[in-house]
Amino acid sequence: MSLTENTSQLFSFEFFPPKTEQGVINLEQVHADLAPLNPDFFSVTFGAGGSTRDNTYDTVVKIQQNGVSAAPHLSCVASTKENIREILNHYREHDISRIVALRGDLPSGTLSAGEFRYANELVDFIRAETGDHFQIHVAAYPEIHPQANNAKDDFDNFKRKVDAGADAVITQYFYNVEAYFYFLDKCEKNGIDIPIVPGIMPIINYSQLFRFSDMCGADIPRWMRKTLESFGDDKASVMAFGEDVVAKLCQDLLDNGAPGLHFYTMNQSKPTLAVWNSLTF
Ligand code: FAD
Repeated sequence: MSLTENTSQLFSFEFFPPKTEQGVINLEQVHADLAPLNPDFFSVTFGAGGSTRDNTYDTVVKIQQNGVSAAPHLSCVASTKENIREILNHYREHDISRIVALRGDLPSGTLSAGEFRYANELVDFIRAETGDHFQIHVAAYPEIHPQANNAKDDFDNFKRKVDAGADAVITQYFYNVEAYFYFLDKCEKNGIDIPIVPGIMPIINYSQLFRFSDMCGADIPRWMRKTLESFGDDKASVMAFGEDVVAKLCQDLLDNGAPGLHFYTMNQSKPTLAVWNSLTF
């Protein structure tokens, strides 16, 4: 079954813009593997400070030309209003109508945060400049953003982005399903009724996953860490375990009301497809 044939849920796949010729060829194959699933969109990440701007442009335009709706990410840290205005105009000219609006993280060695401090200011700016042209997605952190003062402030800050005019939300990945449903409850209690789509990270390379998770504040439950470590270099066992755990997580999410799934594909189709093919809708 294709992803969206019989459902109003939102399904999407995230790519990063390739830097090499081989990366471009690889992404074309990943695109070809995933497009038949008829996702709502493919999103493309954007390096803070505009470091991947041209590669993100190229990737987004190619996706759109190949018949899948493309949603560029746009991070505002270390940018000026003029930079962001130029990017928004570029996307409008290419019929892009969906954007993932983020703060981003200040690249090391960059001293100035630029003209935007937080993502809510970017959402405000996009709305002021372009009205309702873009559907705006923002990020949320069911396990709390690592730089937040505390859980309450983080939620208030998140709500500010929604109030600024976000249409939908994609969460940071997580493996503790309770964190997501608790967050969903909190949104409901606070009158937030836009879709909160869980971000899904397939498990491909566990040492990389551990490093990244420590940085971005995603918790890897102890039992998962210990099990993954016990596989050592046995990649087949890592993949099999990862597929099993992530497929159960996705099924649990969908069965209990998650309004879709957003896969962080890491520009690989196999791990995402393995999870996808085991799901019942
Ligand atoms: P914000 O919503 O601005 O929040 C950042 C921190 O500031 C939080 O701790 C929040 O509580 C706090 N905060 C917010 N507003 C205020 C305020 N007014 N006063 C005080 N504190 C405040 N990064 C990239 O560089 N490129 C990408 O393409 C990219 N894609 C992503 C996609 C998804 C779905 C997700 C979940 C993350 C992505 N990131 C990307 C990472 C993201 O940029 C980082 O997590 C970043 O640290 C926070 O971005 P944000 O938009 O959530 O920031």
